[in-house]
Amino acid sequence: MGRVSFHTLGCKLNFAETSNLKRQFELHGFKPVGQKDACDISVINTCSVTAEADRKCRQTIRRAHRLNPDAFIIVTGCYAQLRPDEVAAIEGVNAVLGNSEKARIFDVLENFSPKAPTRISVSCTGDLTTFDPALLSDDRTRAFLKVQDGCDYSCSFCTIPMARGKSRSAPLNQIVDQTRQLADRGVKEIVLTGVNIGLYGQGSLDPPAEFTLLQLLQRLAKVDGILRYRISSIEPNLLTDEIIDFVADTPVMVPHFHIPLQSGENSVLGAMRRRYRRELYLQRLETICAKMPDAGIGADVIVGFPTETDAHFEETRTFLADLPVTYLHVFTYSGRPDTAAADRFEQPNTVSASERGFRNRTLRELSRRKQTVFQERFRGQVRPVLWERNTWSGRMQGYTDNYIRVSQPFEKHRVGMVEPVRLGTETTTFVS
Ligand code: SF4
Repeated sequence: MGRVSFHTLGCKLNFAETSNLKRQFELHGFKPVGQKDACDISVINTCSVTAEADRKCRQTIRRAHRLNPDAFIIVTGCYAQLRPDEVAAIEGVNAVLGNSEKARIFDVLENFSPKAPTRISVSCTGDLTTFDPALLSDDRTRAFLKVQDGCDYSCSFCTIPMARGKSRSAPLNQIVDQTRQLADRGVKEIVLTGVNIGLYGQGSLDPPAEFTLLQLLQRLAKVDGILRYRISSIEPNLLTDEIIDFVADTPVMVPHFHIPLQSGENSVLGAMRRRYRRELYLQRLETICAKMPDAGIGADVIVGFPTETDAHFEETRTFLADLPVTYLHVFTYSGRPDTAAADRFEQPNTVSASERGFRNRTLRELSRRKQTVFQERFRGQVRPVLWERNTWSGRMQGYTDNYIRVSQPFEKHRVGMVEPVRLGTETTTFVS
């Protein structure tokens, strides 16, 4: 039996797709092994969201080759899709597969002989019309379910539409069936995952208005056994009042949103080609807080975009400081080849590396403060926590409905339970 190891970089969607790859290999008689174990095949599922992500992918490929110099190395995912020749030139790489080839690896590769010439098989993403299902549910408590792929937007900094193609969605009935199966397996929480989930059922490749994200949520809420649904991330302009109302009024929908902001200054949002301005973002958050005052709200923000001046950054910082967001994911801009931002704005406007570093540190510090303030607000209060299997130093971790991470001493029988827990006590501590 051949042994195969898997390495994944990037988002939960990629992790869900690696899970599918693992199942394909198991069905063909291979045995998955750990990343540091001896193996015959190494599969590396890459990300290309930033230049730093590309660098980490190259590092992972080299490390896998050093560890198992005779293994057949397959590189797939967004970096492989966007830079196949660059990936193929890395020592040890035997096959480079694009994002659509990922789902049919055994149709594309006839054998796994490291002696054969390096094989590149990457379809043009413009031709992608199919939806490849994927699902990650390692610990039987939480599952990340892919409901949508690709993006019809064209944000000027982003390579995702090039790497994953136009928006397309899983049929509603298929997701409901997968959800029922997950419930039967004991999964309690499902995180709906995609590239631009708000486009669910509405992408240019889907039949117009056949179904919407709201309709999907309404159907899923009726499935027995699943106690919680989370929307992984949703664009502010696609987060409608109806969705907010439904989340607020439906017990299985958790009061947690992750809403990318990217910049708090309107001219930068325009240069980024985002489809909203700060006023709309603020209005969305005000609506959420009016209906769900305890909601956890995360935001993505990019610092150092080429047109972001010191004053623009300061405007973003103060905007975020005043917003009821409870944590931030901060990204430092890095020019991606073939994007509008790199082509049009970078030359006259590049923000120095040290300034980008300063802005990143400043917002991370703001995020830490906001997270602490949010946690402290709930110290001593009781909220439902779903305990997960992962342990760390003899402790188990879990999330509240409103996305506060806590830990307490490991007790096996609690894994997979949603139970009311008093937060921030000697037993149940906050995790940052
Ligand atoms: S919405 Fe914009 S940032 Fe998000 S995947 Fe689409 S193009 Fe990229």
